[in-house]
Amino acid sequence: MPFDSFLIGNGPEIRLGVFASTFVIIALWELLAPRRALENSKTIRWANNLALAAVNIFFVRVLFPSAVVGVALFADERGVGLLHMFSIAYPLAMILSLLALDLQMYLTHLMFHAVPALWRVHRVHHADVDFDVTTGMRFHPIQMVLMVPIKVAVIFVLGPPVLAVLVFETAFNAVLVFNHANIRIPRAADRALRWFIVTPDVHRLHHSVDATETNSNFGFALTWWDRLLGTYRAEPADGHERMVIGVDQFRTRRDSWFDRLLLQPFHDDIGPYAINRRWDAADARRKASATH
Ligand SMILES: [Zn+2]
Ligand SMILES: [Zn+2]
Repeated sequence: MPFDSFLIGNGPEIRLGVFASTFVIIALWELLAPRRALENSKTIRWANNLALAAVNIFFVRVLFPSAVVGVALFADERGVGLLHMFSIAYPLAMILSLLALDLQMYLTHLMFHAVPALWRVHRVHHADVDFDVTTGMRFHPIQMVLMVPIKVAVIFVLGPPVLAVLVFETAFNAVLVFNHANIRIPRAADRALRWFIVTPDVHRLHHSVDATETNSNFGFALTWWDRLLGTYRAEPADGHERMVIGVDQFRTRRDSWFDRLLLQPFHDDIGPYAINRRWDAADARRKASATH
């Protein structure tokens, strides 16, 4: 299909173009109609968050250049994967694949909250005390690297149309930029949108310091998985303007510096957020016995 080959041939440029234009539009929207006042200086936060984003681009581009699309092509050529086992119409295969890739993001995100070692890595994203377009780019490189084999395995098992993977990968960063935007969307529009997609108000709640709210709204693009699996929460208890964002352990300005962000997963205080409290308790016991 010519559209497939066009996307494959120009993949990195198109992905960068879509990301850059979404970033500029949202950044301007944040200036014109911000949802909340920021706690910290934008310059320092942006410099550190974007430095981390630059490391991620380097890691993911150099270590796994188009690995995800490569696996999709491989699976397609050899007829590997569930969708190849049934004669499913192409449009239906596209829809099912996009849904499956979004569900995979939901489940991976949940796993990053449920497994304490993974929560340490994902916590870097949550420790931002503000929530804006650069929060969506602030991920520890270990998380970015770990997500590649997970997605590769899902594509291998599913065998989606290559176009579905290309569309998903192209939209990936734009979705992250949008659902972390510090933008004011008219209430009625937000209400209508959130029946389908994760709006910034839906995802902001997930960045609350309150552990119950942190462990809600794991969705990436669609709100359906949270609604179906009981993790959806409509509004933060303190309201969007007053709710406190971040995690308890890392709130100083120094905590948001680039070097601290890289080292944060190895900080010995795991904190109260990981879903699996059994591990949490084991961690507390280990620490208590270490101090005696
Ligand atoms: Zn999270
Ligand atoms: Zn987030």
